[in-house]
Amino acid sequence: MSLLVVGSLGIDTIETPFGRVEDVLGGSATYIATAASYFVTPIRLVGVVGGDFKKEYIDFLESRDIDLEGLQIMEGGKTFRWGGRYHYDLNTRDTLFTELNCFEHFNPIIPESYRKTTYVCLGNIDPDLQRRVLEQIAKPRLVIGDTMNFWIKGKNKELLATLKLMDVLVVNESEVRELTGEPNLIKAAKLIIRMGPKTVVVKKGEHGALMVTERTIFSAPAYPLENINDPTGAGDAFAGGFIGWIARTDDLSDDNIKRAVIYGSALASFCVERFSLDRLKELTYLEIQDRFRSFRELSKFDEEAAAVR
Ligand code: AMP
Repeated sequence: MSLLVVGSLGIDTIETPFGRVEDVLGGSATYIATAASYFVTPIRLVGVVGGDFKKEYIDFLESRDIDLEGLQIMEGGKTFRWGGRYHYDLNTRDTLFTELNCFEHFNPIIPESYRKTTYVCLGNIDPDLQRRVLEQIAKPRLVIGDTMNFWIKGKNKELLATLKLMDVLVVNESEVRELTGEPNLIKAAKLIIRMGPKTVVVKKGEHGALMVTERTIFSAPAYPLENINDPTGAGDAFAGGFIGWIARTDDLSDDNIKRAVIYGSALASFCVERFSLDRLKELTYLEIQDRFRSFRELSKFDEEAAAVR
């Protein structure tokens, strides 16, 4: 099945308590497409970069079978740049700088060959642009989208209009609360369901992910890792693993969407092990399968034995 990913491609500078990297590959679409490429290829990518976007980044994306026909390269312009510093617990970060550069006037143009795409993943960009993408394509089977505080505050009306067109919204817990004004995550997710998306996946960082639909609540743990170096892109890697699995299987049953949540959690757990996309670059499908199985082991216990005592 075909998958279209739209979002930012960027050059990041990241500081965590465990190191610092400068001018490394980043961006929401980069993480989403790379994670999803382990499940389904080619991935159709739409985004914008400047002439300073290194050839090695292009080569890497192509090596993952990511179709770059929809990538606009502004030869005279500069690529989107973002810098972040994580606190000691890795749950909170300060944005050091955001330089939109050529991303500021990004107008997503969907190539003719992408206009019929079964699955669409809208990375965290202006909700008006997310809607413009959907206006250019035939109705997909499933649209999954992300958003952030910046748009919840700054473009609330536009975001509410775009939410009506999304089937799945993947957001952080703080964003769910901010969007609805409701502190309880289940109640908040159900309020979002009334706004449009039939499924809400709440990302809770080191506490895992919660999927809420009208009929189901499913809670997935975060994989307990001893070495976390860089949480950047974990949410995007989650979204990529989630939609990648759904696109691979073309199965929208509740059980399969739960499996997708676990695949998303697995990809997020790999992502944070190393800086930038370093871990996602060298993954194998076998490693992903192994981690998927480990998730089951994490909360499996013997109900019978407890009953006997
Ligand atoms: P996440 O850690 O999931 O929030 O994603 C981090 C990625 O998002 C980084 O690689 C950044 O380049 C990118 N990013 C940060 N801020 C923005 C923004 N305002 N718009 C689009 N992408 C962003």
